[in-house]
Amino acid sequence: MTRSTYVVAVGSNRRGRHGAPADEVAAAINALPGLVSVAPIITSAPVGPSIRRFANTVAIVSTPLSPADLLLALKAIERQFGRRRGQRWGARVIDLDIILWSAGKVDHPALKVPHPAFRARDFVLVPLVRLAPKWRDPVTGLTILQLHARLTRRRSVPRRVVAGAGP
Ligand code: ATP
Ligand code: CA
Ligand code: CA
Repeated sequence: MTRSTYVVAVGSNRRGRHGAPADEVAAAINALPGLVSVAPIITSAPVGPSIRRFANTVAIVSTPLSPADLLLALKAIERQFGRRRGQRWGARVIDLDIILWSAGKVDHPALKVPHPAFRARDFVLVPLVRLAPKWRDPVTGLTILQLHARLTRRRSVPRRVVAGAGP
């Protein structure tokens, strides 16, 4: 039996039957197949006029499931947690994304691994740098540590310096 290792991102921005978003994330972690390790849950203050709070973390799972079958299992968990269809970007009790797969890439309309947006998301890279700093992104060739440093650097450059910097 060939097992694969995956990074799964777990997020919530809506209360559910387990409680606040952080409670939903903790409960969803317990439902993951082949859980190996999990980073601390980070909660973020609402952005803009929204009063919504977010909770996020990442987990490493080890399972014989193929990427497509793992996605099916994750969608089943999302449904168990009361997620309905058509809630992309909106409020949902649980969102489970496959971020990385130890065996490489998947490029299919319904499943793209590595997750196309994870390099720009601090709510993925911040917890992941604690868990798998040396994991190498097969698309850019950079480690999680390097992707995290790159994102942090970009974020921390003051706007006026960027605006004032010329050739
Ligand atoms: P984002 O993908 O930008 O984080 P989202 O998580 O809100 O947005 P969803 O509505 O949860 O988007 O997912 C839409 C579809 O994306 C899923 O039904 C799934 O088929 C597809 N998908 C593609 N790649 C992945 C992946 N790596 N992990 C999870 N779903 C994926
Ligand atoms: Ca997502
Ligand atoms: Ca998703």
